[in-house]
Amino acid sequence: MRAAAGTTLTFEGRFASEFEELAVPWQAEEAPDPRLLVLNERLAFELGLNPADLRTPAGTRLLIGNLIPEGATPVAQAYAGHQFGGYSPILGDGRALLLGEVTDAHGQVRDVHLKGSGRTPFARAGDGLAVVGPMLREYLVSESMHAMGIPTTRSLAVVGTGRPVRRESMLPGAVLTRVASSHLRVGSFQFARINGDTGLLRRLADHAISRHHPAAAKAAQPYVAFFDAVIAAQASLVARWMLVGFVHGVMNTDNMTISGETIDYGPCAFMDAFNPGAVYSSIDQGGRYAYGNQPLIAEWNLTRLAEALLPLLHEDQEQAVALAVESLGAFGTQYSAAWLAGMKAKLGLGADANDDVAATLAEELLALLKDGEVDYTSFFRALSLAAGGATETARELFADPAAFDAWAERWLALAPDAEAMGRANPVYIPRNHLVEEALAAATAGDLAPFNRLAEVLADPYTERPGLERYAGPAPDDFGSYRTFCGT
Ligand code: AMP
Ligand code: MG
Repeated sequence: MRAAAGTTLTFEGRFASEFEELAVPWQAEEAPDPRLLVLNERLAFELGLNPADLRTPAGTRLLIGNLIPEGATPVAQAYAGHQFGGYSPILGDGRALLLGEVTDAHGQVRDVHLKGSGRTPFARAGDGLAVVGPMLREYLVSESMHAMGIPTTRSLAVVGTGRPVRRESMLPGAVLTRVASSHLRVGSFQFARINGDTGLLRRLADHAISRHHPAAAKAAQPYVAFFDAVIAAQASLVARWMLVGFVHGVMNTDNMTISGETIDYGPCAFMDAFNPGAVYSSIDQGGRYAYGNQPLIAEWNLTRLAEALLPLLHEDQEQAVALAVESLGAFGTQYSAAWLAGMKAKLGLGADANDDVAATLAEELLALLKDGEVDYTSFFRALSLAAGGATETARELFADPAAFDAWAERWLALAPDAEAMGRANPVYIPRNHLVEEALAAATAGDLAPFNRLAEVLADPYTERPGLERYAGPAPDDFGSYRTFCGT
C-alpha cells in the first residue's frame, strides 16, 4: 500500500504478537463485489494513506481485509463483558478483526479494525456480518461526535460487500473500517483476569499504560494511577455525552474503552425533547442505559474494571479493595466537575462564574426543559440568541413561558457571552429522523442524502443559511424512535 508521501504504510501486529492469549489469527471473508460507499479522505491523510489509492479496486479490498497489507496479522480479539448486568466470560470479536496498528502523521499509534468481516471463532449464533444501514450509521454518528470534539473511535470507510445479508429482510452487506487509539476495553481486562495468571493482566495493563496513560508509569503506584486515569477519562467522556444529549444505548463493559473514546455505535441516539428517561434501544426494556443513568452505569462498569485489576493494585486483597474504593470515590466528583464546566460553557458563563450559582441555574433549567418537553439542542442554540438580547426564539419553545422568563432574568443578570455559547452548543447533530432518512436512501442505492448529512455534521457549530431542515427536531409524525441491536 502506497502512503500519501509515496512511501509504504507499515502495519504493526503489536497486539497480535504480544497477546497471543487474547488474539486469534483470522482472515476476513472474501467479498464477492466490493464497492467503496464512503471514504473519509481527511482521516486517510492523517493515517498517511493516499485516498486515490484507497479508491482503486486493490485499495478497496485492503479496506475490508481481503488484501492483507504488509506487516498485518489480522486477529479477532478476545474479551469478556457484563451485558445488561449479566456476565459473559467469552464475548470477543464475533464479526470483527483487528488488522493491525499504524503510526499516524502525529506519531500516534492507531488501530485499524474491520466490523462485519465474517464469522470468527467468537461468532456463536451470529452470522459475522454487518449491513449497509448500521455501518453508515456508525460512520455518521462517530464522525459527528469527532466534529463536536468528543473522544471517539473514527470511521475510515464503509465498503459494500455485494453480499446480501439476512436480517428481518434481505439487506445489502457492508464492512466498516474503524480507526481507534486502541480496542482495549473493560472487558479485555475482565477476560485477562479470568483466563490468565497475573502476568497476562500485568502485561495488558503495561500495554494500556504505554498507549493511553503513560504518566501512570512514573507514579509511585503505577496500576493505581492507571485505574485513576481510566476513571478520569470516562468521567470526562460521559459528561461530554450528557452535555450534548447523547444516549449510547448499550453501555456493556465490552463497549467501554480504556482510552476514553466512545465505541460501538449500535442503538445510540441523540435526544430531541429533554428527558432523563430517554431510551432508544429496542432491547433495553428496563431502561438500564437510559440517558440519565449513564454516569451511574459508567461508575458501575469501572467497578467491574477495579475487580479485574485487584491483583495489580496490591498483593493483599483487602488493601487492594481499599485502594480501588478510594479511586472509585473520585468518579462522582470528577464527573460533576466536568459536567458543570461544560454546562457553564453552554450557558455562556465564564469559568470564574460561581459554581453553586451556575449549578442551581442549570438544574432549574433542566427541570423546565423536562416539564416543557423542550428540544434540548434547539433550546441551547436559541438561548445563545437570548444572550444577545433576542429572547423570543427560546421563549417560544415553552408552552408556558412564564417560568422560563423568571429563570432568564436571573441568568441574564450574569451577563452570558453569546459568542462563546455559539461555540459550545452544536446546531447540527445526527438527529434520528435525518439519520434514518439518509440510511433508507443509502440502502436503496442513493448516497446523496447521506453525503449531504455527513457534510452538514462535519461543521456542527457554524449555522449556515439553507440548512434549516437539519437544525430542528423531528416532525410530529416521526413518532417514537427505536433503534435495534441486531445491527
Ligand atoms: P455489541 O454489544 O453489539 O458490541 O456486541 C456484543 C457481542 O456480539 C460481540 O462479541 C460481537 O462481536 C458479537 N456480535 C454482534 N453481532 C454479531 C454478528 N452478526 N455475528 C457475530 N457476532 C456478533
Ligand atoms: Mg461491542
